[in-house]
Amino acid sequence: EGAVVFENVGFAYDPRNPALKNISFSIPKGKTVALVGPSGGGKSTILRLLFRFYDVGSGRILIDGQDIRLVKQESLRRNIGVVPQDTVLFNDTIFYNIHYGNIKASEDDVYKAAKAAQIHDRIKTFPDDYQTRVGERGLRLSGGEKQRVAIARTILKDPAIILLDEATSALDTTTERQIQHALANITKDRTTLVIAHRLSTIINADLILCIKDGQVAEQGTHDELIQNT
Ligand code: ADP
Ligand code: ADP
Repeated sequence: EGAVVFENVGFAYDPRNPALKNISFSIPKGKTVALVGPSGGGKSTILRLLFRFYDVGSGRILIDGQDIRLVKQESLRRNIGVVPQDTVLFNDTIFYNIHYGNIKASEDDVYKAAKAAQIHDRIKTFPDDYQTRVGERGLRLSGGEKQRVAIARTILKDPAIILLDEATSALDTTTERQIQHALANITKDRTTLVIAHRLSTIINADLILCIKDGQVAEQGTHDELIQNT
């Protein structure tokens, strides 16, 4: 599960200036794919269309061979997990924040997800207010740590596809790399992972799509793209 195909997809926020121009590409299931390229190229728009935040203007998007417009919204949302650029957390424990939205998950599963996202040491603390349930003083979570909480929540949900939008992320490169590594390791060949990134510094993507001016300018593995330049 989790194969994604864009077939001649067009989309415009403004009809005079289409954001995606008949774009076509395939993402094999279970692979890690990086969308890179200049700001405004269309990376975030691709993620928004995949999640059906907007519907395509023309063409179609297939997941496992099925047009996503014909899939029930709740089934699509169950199959796709989104790790946003800026994670807003509840003013409650990290445990609560990970468990939220996955109420059937056991306490043990929450701990495992937290461990996988490397945020388990903060599980009893609150994100922002220096407080914990037991009254200890904790440290305020950094942007990268908040994103780890979002990753843990997504891991717990266990969707077939995970979208990670770092297109305009303010995280430092080291933190970004750690987060990408963590996610890629967890998802292995089981989950399709699509990462939108402003730089081409993605290291362990199986496929890199360079999105420029609403089209695929180049695609290939990291080594193939380096040989072409
Ligand atoms: P990237 O993620 O590669 O930076 P985007 O998908 O955000 O690119 O943007 C593609 C194009 O669509 C750009 O020209 C951008 O200005 C425009 N755009 C993106 N979001 C919106 C929006 N909500 N309303 C209008 N135009 C938008
Ligand atoms: P992102 O990578 O999240 O798309 P952007 O900088 O492209 O970041 O856009 C941030 C927000 O600003 C978008 O969610 C969109 O709503 C809005 N936006 C971006 N470009 C335009 C645009 N050309 N016209 C109107 N709104 C825009």
